[in-house]
Amino acid sequence: MNHSLELLLAKPFVQTIASHVYESKNVSVSVLRLDAMHDAISGNKWFKLKEHLAAAQQQNKKIVLTFGGAFSNHLLATAAACRLAGFASIGIVRGEKPKLFSHTLHDVLQHGMQLYFIAREDYKNKIIPQEVLEKHRAEAIYIVPEGGYSALGCAGSMGILKSCDTASFTHIIAAVGTGTMLAGLLRSKAKQQQVVGISVLKNNFSIEAAIEKLAQEKPLVLHDYHFGGYAKHKPGLLQFMNAFYESTGIATDFVYTGKTFYAAHALMEQGFFPPQSRILLVHSGGLQGNRSLPQGALGY
Ligand SMILES: *Cc1c(COP(=O)(O)O)cnc(C)c1O
Repeated sequence: MNHSLELLLAKPFVQTIASHVYESKNVSVSVLRLDAMHDAISGNKWFKLKEHLAAAQQQNKKIVLTFGGAFSNHLLATAAACRLAGFASIGIVRGEKPKLFSHTLHDVLQHGMQLYFIAREDYKNKIIPQEVLEKHRAEAIYIVPEGGYSALGCAGSMGILKSCDTASFTHIIAAVGTGTMLAGLLRSKAKQQQVVGISVLKNNFSIEAAIEKLAQEKPLVLHDYHFGGYAKHKPGLLQFMNAFYESTGIATDFVYTGKTFYAAHALMEQGFFPPQSRILLVHSGGLQGNRSLPQGALGY
């Protein structure tokens, strides 16, 4: 299953981008295009899911259940991957059932995921509604933790740097939500490589410990580039994303990769990267989330 599903995904690739700023700083910048793998199973989500789906299959589970918000890339990726892999899927969604479904929830339903909406307090405690347990045999259900945060999610993320030839890069910059991907990057990087995480949540200072738990190594996470908090944005961020698209042809999302690439450029301006640095920006996907922005906010 796992192997054959992987065959349906496009291969990620490394794209080198040019700018006079990079030249003047004497650094090179490339983007690891995980976003190109699949529309719905986007970016890092396949890597975080693959070991879970393999485990679900090994344990002969029929249903995969996971958690997410109404705009969640993880929920959509899980729904799409489960459909392709032949699992039924259940999504536990944070908050009241909305009158108007987000684009994401529409897509999730299209992929056949059954949705259950639960109160925010219950969501915090990851309570599975009684209804679900009455309808399905508990033994048939495999639970993927929210955002894939787990040892298996980390193990899958170790495949990210191996998916392309990344050995010559000196710095790897990636977004941090649950930190699962960053833990996988830390565990799989070459010795001389420095991994820098950009937190997309505001003041999420427990994230270092959460990453260290999976990576067995203290991460470097920067907390200055959240633009007001998770899924918040400011004009400067959208301006950057538009300019980056114009100069490179690469679209970024406003929740994760836009903030991360912005941070990388700010760090460059601050002289964070020594001359001759070879910087790899991880494009972890998430473009579907841009559909929640007002029309015309982005030029792509
Ligand atoms: C989910 C997601 C992340 C965050 O990954 P974590 O492993 O939770 O830190 C980063 N980028 C994109 C585009 C995502 O969808």
